[in-house]
Amino acid sequence: MLYGALEAGGTKMVCAVGKEDGTILEQVSIPTTTPEETLPKIIEYFKDKDIASLGVAAFGPVDVNPTSETYGYILDTPKLPWRNYNLLGALREGLHLPMGLDTDVNGSCLGEMTFGCARGLDNVLYLTFGTGVGAGIAIGGQLLHGMLHPEAGHILMPRHPEDTYEGKCPYHKTCLEGMAAGPAIEARWGDKAKNLADRDEVWEMESWYIAQALVNYILTLSPRKIILGGGVMHQEQLFPLIRSKVTEFLNGYLNTKELKDMDSYIVPSSLHDDQGIMGCVELAKRALTVSA
Ligand SMILES: [Zn+2]
Repeated sequence: MLYGALEAGGTKMVCAVGKEDGTILEQVSIPTTTPEETLPKIIEYFKDKDIASLGVAAFGPVDVNPTSETYGYILDTPKLPWRNYNLLGALREGLHLPMGLDTDVNGSCLGEMTFGCARGLDNVLYLTFGTGVGAGIAIGGQLLHGMLHPEAGHILMPRHPEDTYEGKCPYHKTCLEGMAAGPAIEARWGDKAKNLADRDEVWEMESWYIAQALVNYILTLSPRKIILGGGVMHQEQLFPLIRSKVTEFLNGYLNTKELKDMDSYIVPSSLHDDQGIMGCVELAKRALTVSA
């Protein structure tokens, strides 16, 4: 059986066909412009693929509550053509298939829980650091939703004692995203993260912010594993810095077997940036179970 996978991002729509075991057989990338332009191309791609169902992981905020009147709508996004757009409705109208929907980061979390390094774990945190900071969270084996969905990239942060940068987030200035996402790094240091690889002070400060956030998530969510993805995390020198600061900030308060093995506890994504699209395959599989 074949499954359709759609990773609906703010800059591109990744469309793929995958198998039960998560293998991606083919994929294309379609630029995210306007719904009028982009949706017909997505539908055209999937139309003749003989897929049983479609899994969609969408940029947010997106309504992921199946009982809500606006289920499947992109909500109050700064991307104006997509604001209040019925994404799932348009896909259903064009494809007439069972569909599963979640946030892009929950999709990646699910990908890691199904096919990657978080298999068999109940509480898992997946964080992406790129143009923004997003969090996918599973609690008791279920992806966390609630009144909307977690927006843990916007938790409020203390300022690093040596940081004079005002903060990038238009809502909170100094939230995690405002201090530690790619655009904040570029604004603070005057260059893109990838060009700052040999500047130790950049990663010292970046890991300070990330570790503070992780400690708060560890204390509230009790994750068994924390997976860090996104473009910023391609700076692999961050991992040892983050691990040692998390240990330092926890200051011996928790003593679990997971925290004793930091190298296995805070890890890069294990699916080579395919965690999102593979998570969509799993969403598609689950949609079939639900509708059967
Ligand atoms: Zn914010």
